[in-house]
Amino acid sequence: MSASSVSVLHGVPVVPGVQYAPVIRPGRPPVVDLPDAEIAEGDRAAEAGRFLAAATAVAERLRDRAAHATGAAAEVLAATATLAQDRAWLGAAEKRITAGAPAVRAVAEAVDQFIGMFTKMGGLMAERVTDLRDIRDRVVAELSGLPEPGVPLPDVPSILCAPDLAPADTAGLDPQLVVGLATTLGGPTSHTAIIARQLGIPCVVAVSGLDDIESGRMVLLDGTAGTLAADPDPAQAAAAVDAARRSAEAARTWRGPGATRDGHAVAILANVQDGAAARAARATPAEGIGLFRTELCFLNRDTEPTVEEQAAIYGEVLDAFTGGGKVVIRTLDAGSDKPLKFAGHPLDEANPALGVRGIRIAEGNPRLLEHQLDAIAVAAKETGSEPWVMAPMIATPYEAKTFAAQVRSRGLTPGVMIEVPAAALLAERILDHVDFLSVGTNDLAQYTMAADRMSAELATLTDPWQPAVLALVSTAARAGAAAGKPVGVCGEAAADPLLACVLVGLGVTSLSAAAAAIPAVGAKLATVTEQQCRDAAEAVLATPGPGEARAAALALLA
Ligand code: PEP
Ligand code: MG
Repeated sequence: MSASSVSVLHGVPVVPGVQYAPVIRPGRPPVVDLPDAEIAEGDRAAEAGRFLAAATAVAERLRDRAAHATGAAAEVLAATATLAQDRAWLGAAEKRITAGAPAVRAVAEAVDQFIGMFTKMGGLMAERVTDLRDIRDRVVAELSGLPEPGVPLPDVPSILCAPDLAPADTAGLDPQLVVGLATTLGGPTSHTAIIARQLGIPCVVAVSGLDDIESGRMVLLDGTAGTLAADPDPAQAAAAVDAARRSAEAARTWRGPGATRDGHAVAILANVQDGAAARAARATPAEGIGLFRTELCFLNRDTEPTVEEQAAIYGEVLDAFTGGGKVVIRTLDAGSDKPLKFAGHPLDEANPALGVRGIRIAEGNPRLLEHQLDAIAVAAKETGSEPWVMAPMIATPYEAKTFAAQVRSRGLTPGVMIEVPAAALLAERILDHVDFLSVGTNDLAQYTMAADRMSAELATLTDPWQPAVLALVSTAARAGAAAGKPVGVCGEAAADPLLACVLVGLGVTSLSAAAAAIPAVGAKLATVTEQQCRDAAEAVLATPGPGEARAAALALLA
């Protein structure tokens, strides 16, 4: 089959690396008819006993596997075993059996009730729904005398594909035999992702169309690009695996500073959330901090931290890079998925992502921003640093002007994030007021594509390779070049080595990413010339979608 006719599925990349291997799929959950008939009153106690014995057997098997596993795998298996014995759902099922429901139906109904509750709670609780379904399927199989559902042991190294993987399935995997993971559902914090990271095997989640790829088909899984290609050309696939191995080796030995092969300097910086992360970043080739997410320091606080407390926390981050290295501090980006109890968010916003978040909080609660800027000024003075300070969620030049005046009055250097399309479109006018821009591609993608960044179903729309998103990055970068002011990128896009080169081609002057992503980005940039980056950027901007954009960039930057 030629490369061009290969169907390439897209998902969310979670663990980098490339593998070419046949697909295996876990055993299907038991299909049992839920009996309508009621249990005779005299038999209900025995039915309840049968149910409790089945739940105990499932929990014991999980505990036994936990005892033979290590690290996160052992923790995940033990947590699932505990959930299998959880009094809340066991009680709900028993109550149904006492009222006459056969055990199999009682299990299904009780678990459904809890799935409904967990889903409503959202966030991390919603991700535990997979654990509950897994326990339901195991207990139902046990009650019905069917084999326990789970992952078959493959004969050859294989790529495990599934709608979603139960933690108990992923926890027992042998990385010599299961060399990659892909799921239709799941987010970057799902158990699948956690275990894949521990095993160090490439992983892509939220892959749409994955359910059509049957067991035995050869696939090329790219955990860096977030793609899965079915039946690719074997020689090309082997070459891709080889190239990925070489890139991983180059990343291990890259020491910085960031530059293209022909010496065009691009600062490579780290995203951090506290002093510990900043010190860890200092141990990498990162040239500074491109994004300090200050709101993450205060997620558990009920009351506003004092200026002194804040200054101490910011000082720790500044300390990590004193004596060289830029540090960009972002003022509180509270609201939406990161509410702060003391920020005075309006209650019951219909659309919190479009609501009072980021800089918009300063309108109703100006003292919060003033105190934070005071604290940053104190920390700067105490550490002898000159941090740059930027505001999140800027939408208008007026907001930028107001913010810049407040920052300058404290002797600090102001900038703003470009996360709202309106701000990208008017970047030139915003730069009349501030000294730098930093593009947050996570939110810029969300707002450009009108797609929730938390939604696994919409992950293709929020893909930072969307040409519409990159067109807005280009607008901001060109405005920066015209004004002679730096424009960085600090969203997840900067963590993708290939996309990072495209961003440089668009005119971006610095890249900031999680410390773990930095070596791969720096090493890739060092293999290409500035002109290659520019050509790739031009080609990408002319494509209709993220898949074509990646392909266009690969063709010019491979
Ligand atoms: C972004 O939106 O890209 C960004 C860096 O900010 P956050 O992810 O914290 O919203
Ligand atoms: Mg953002």
